[in-house]
Amino acid sequence: MTFSLAIVGRPNVGKSTLFNRLVGKRLALVDDQPGVTRDLREGAARLGDLRFTVIDTAGLEEATDESLQGRMRKLTERAVDMADICLFLIDARAGVTPMDEVLAEILRKRAKHVILAANKGEGSAADAGVLEAYGLGLGEPIRLSAEHGEGLNDLYAQLMPLS
Ligand code: GDP
Ligand code: MG
Repeated sequence: MTFSLAIVGRPNVGKSTLFNRLVGKRLALVDDQPGVTRDLREGAARLGDLRFTVIDTAGLEEATDESLQGRMRKLTERAVDMADICLFLIDARAGVTPMDEVLAEILRKRAKHVILAANKGEGSAADAGVLEAYGLGLGEPIRLSAEHGEGLNDLYAQLMPLS
């Protein structure tokens, strides 16, 4: 059985970097697929022996009249409703921000399964942020480095029982 995984989090935490790593060269851009807009990008992902659909949430970088927080909330809700599992990324170097708290609240209330990951986790500059992530009430964070490909074994270990 396969599943869908939505990568959610505020802008610049490394969602697209992780998406690209999970999809590799198998990127299937589905702009013209019903229900998939510019804001949500789907790809066929592989992690070890797991095969799944990964959803990247984007589109928050463009300036519009609506507040960033309002758009982030809506987009996160859409991704949560689409996906079997949510992977919530924070930036371990930045620590937990107020926007992270808002998204964590949505996920705690609405998501079927949430996996928490502290990205940019390479090096000691991330130590404090990883510890802060425990305070989000979403379980033990995975220490990830999407850029360096670290922590993917821990992601696999959390996904495997849900697959
Ligand atoms: P998104 O806005 O959440 O999709 O974030 P991006 O994937 O576009 O990444 C934002 C920035 O963070 C880029 O400059 C990435 O190169 C950088 N980045 C992503 N993952 C990591 C990581 O694991 N470590 C570090 N140091 N930088 C990262
Ligand atoms: Mg992105």
